[in-house]
Amino acid sequence: MSGFDKLLQFLTTEKVINLDETQWWTLEELRELQEFRLRKMVKYAYNQLPGYRKKFDRAGVSPEQIRSLDDLPKIPMTTREELQNNPEFVNEKLISGTLYTGGSTGTSLKYYESKESGKIRWNAHLRGWFWNGYRPGKRLAVIASAQGIVKEENTLNLSGDMKTENLQKNIEELKKFRPQHLRGYVGSLYILAKYCLDNEISIEGIESIDPISENLYDFQRTTMEKAFNCPVYEEYCCNDGGACAWECGAHEGLHYFMERAIIEDVDGEMVVTDLWNRAMPFIRYKNGDSVIFLDKKCSCGRELPLIKVKGRDNDIIITKNGMISPSFMVHHGMGIETIDHSKTNFRDGIRAVQYVQKPGYILEVNLVKNPWCNNDDIRAFEDKVSSIAEGMSVKINYVSDIPSTKKGKRAFIINEDKDLLHKWKAN
Ligand SMILES: [Zn+2]
Repeated sequence: MSGFDKLLQFLTTEKVINLDETQWWTLEELRELQEFRLRKMVKYAYNQLPGYRKKFDRAGVSPEQIRSLDDLPKIPMTTREELQNNPEFVNEKLISGTLYTGGSTGTSLKYYESKESGKIRWNAHLRGWFWNGYRPGKRLAVIASAQGIVKEENTLNLSGDMKTENLQKNIEELKKFRPQHLRGYVGSLYILAKYCLDNEISIEGIESIDPISENLYDFQRTTMEKAFNCPVYEEYCCNDGGACAWECGAHEGLHYFMERAIIEDVDGEMVVTDLWNRAMPFIRYKNGDSVIFLDKKCSCGRELPLIKVKGRDNDIIITKNGMISPSFMVHHGMGIETIDHSKTNFRDGIRAVQYVQKPGYILEVNLVKNPWCNNDDIRAFEDKVSSIAEGMSVKINYVSDIPSTKKGKRAFIINEDKDLLHKWKAN
């Protein structure tokens, strides 16, 4: 059956598509698929969700005017702030799961997904991981926090907290477990890799490394590949909006998964349209990252376009016991299930946070509360931050908004102890 026949079959059945097959579709076929889903999503959102209807009406555009990808610029953009706690963008009847952004903006968005959306999210991950040789059941070690927890068999979940004592503990566990695949936050994997190289520690038998959640720099990739003696496969995933991309075995860039969402480069900013999530549609949503489309075809034969993604750069926090990777701070310092699955429940009460490290191991936290935030939320938050930033003096400032930096960005972590940063980098 040709790609077009499959597409036709899909158009009539409307089932969640088989990503194993569509990865070999031509670019034209993939665009057809996107346009079909786009028309459907726009019509649905306009008719069912007052939030989108108002936006479209204000912009003077009707669903009938959106026929192809070329019509996208007619649709107004949507921001995270607009969607925050706004029932006008949610269809409660279709909710099958609740998620939170662990965005490095320090602002958390509670959002919902439909059954189809959850299914394609999982299938997209599986396809991406298959490219690096992973299969469920193979020994996988994950060095992250609760967001990265994998409940598959043969999985070792380690804390992404990379203080020196935990590093040694993690290494002992890894040696015992002998993982075939290693996944984790860029910052955490890099610290582990550097520690292994510096101390001449080798962990044998790893086939691939899958760094997630932060910008991956060439020096980090090289260090990881050298320390674990295997290739790195970069992963990019931002589930609010459905943008995701994985590196294949040709290592020529990240293939953008066109079947899940449309990604646009609007003056460097990534703008995404989720093609499946009808519980809470994301239409021309600015997810806060930037994207560059690479002007080349991958030698692997897949026509899914190659991109390079850049998220926000964040500083690191350095405690007396080592450093904390930005993603660890994002996931734990914003309140989420802990690695032992005990719930921390303060996340809803907190609208935004910013961490500022001052000289002398002082950690100042700028915190914006939601109106319903209570004392228990604050106490739980303080306890959590104090336990992460062990040995630092933590001071919370209640603010009405996170102050912007000179460049106008709202940084999540700022380290103002330049001497300490310099010493760590030189190490
Ligand atoms: Zn490829």
